[in-house]
Amino acid sequence: MGTTNSAAAVMEAGRPVVIPSAEGPTVAGKMFPSVVAFTADGQLLVGEPAKRQATANPERTIFEIKRKMGTDYKVFIDGKSFTPQQISAFILQKIKKDAETFLGTPVKKAVITVPAHFNDNQRQATKDAGEIAGLEVVRIINEPTAACLAYGLDKADKEMKILVFSFGGGTHDVTIMDFGGGVFQVLATSGDTKTGGADIDNALMQYIISEYKTQTGIDLSTDKMAMMRLKEAAEKAKIELSNVVTTDIDLPFIAMKNNSPMHLHMTITRAKLEELALPIVQRIEEPIRKVLADAKLEPKDIDKIILIGGQTRMPLVRKFIEDLLGKPAERGVDPMECVAIGAAIQGAVLTGEVKDLLLLMYTVITWSRNSRRNIYQNNREKHNHTHQKKPDFHNCCRLSNNCYHTCPTR
Ligand code: AMP
Repeated sequence: MGTTNSAAAVMEAGRPVVIPSAEGPTVAGKMFPSVVAFTADGQLLVGEPAKRQATANPERTIFEIKRKMGTDYKVFIDGKSFTPQQISAFILQKIKKDAETFLGTPVKKAVITVPAHFNDNQRQATKDAGEIAGLEVVRIINEPTAACLAYGLDKADKEMKILVFSFGGGTHDVTIMDFGGGVFQVLATSGDTKTGGADIDNALMQYIISEYKTQTGIDLSTDKMAMMRLKEAAEKAKIELSNVVTTDIDLPFIAMKNNSPMHLHMTITRAKLEELALPIVQRIEEPIRKVLADAKLEPKDIDKIILIGGQTRMPLVRKFIEDLLGKPAERGVDPMECVAIGAAIQGAVLTGEVKDLLLLMYTVITWSRNSRRNIYQNNREKHNHTHQKKPDFHNCCRLSNNCYHTCPTR
């Protein structure tokens, strides 16, 4: 359940398979845009169809509902109010339906991932969304933990410190995890919920607008329809420039001048995009430094770096992080699919399909080092999920019989 996009995977014959949406792969991959829209004629659109009509129907299109999970926020449409859980449930229902079409069987249970920094309200709201969508949510796990599972780090036989960096459409965050004896623990997490890939699209858009104004005298920023086309084209060019060093933007009939149609044609190089993106990419340095300081670690103490989120596909982003930490990031799993793949692996562990995992225990960030160590030790000895008599760290652990969140008392 991403802020901008969501993704789903299933284990088939022991391997994780990413589920495509009914509309086919989107511009950024096999994603389900986390967008819900209510059309004027009463239709509910979810995913790619909702995203496509957003500019024409902005008041009735809902983006980034994940930011509101666990709050009292309401969406009001045609006199009806919807909670963030209900809006999220529409996205999950769409994923469930497309997964059922893809698999040819009903889908009843799900593992859903959340950011490591989500509190208990946000986790409970996510679980509720799943249940409204008709899914039994068998576990809520942290996104960075899921990413580690996708890379098979749970099979490592040594302790390690793992830094998971996530850069999506609207946010970025970084988590340091400690792994040992089958246990993943969050040592520290930090981030910025206001900087994401959309800021890079916007920087490129502003550049195109200014170049076009110099060339033609036309200010595209005052034309809503032109801005919509430009936004799509800028994101598409940005994505292409992760693989090629130059690309063309072609937008015919973008404006009128002296009663004649005007077209936009511009070549954008990767170097130009990187120049525009650098001030935005530099903003990721602060949370990375903060998370290292909070975990009382130096870059040299980090054993593995994992990148998740679509924006980490940009070569500049990978290079920036690798230079900052002085070591290469892992490769081999698509950063946009990584978390969904990890969730599928967790699902297979819960159904018994995957057996070679020891214990998966998810812990929160706010504990003192001592209590963390005690629980860690205790779990390493027990290697199971029996509920131990321990002080109640959270009330929420009484909410469900399933071990669905990070509560250390489970
Ligand atoms: P997410 O929130 O993880 O779905 O990531 C979405 C963000 O990743 C959007 O800003 C996309 O434009 C961006 N993105 C997706 N694929 C790429 C790519 N190949 N290169 C650069 N950015 C990308």
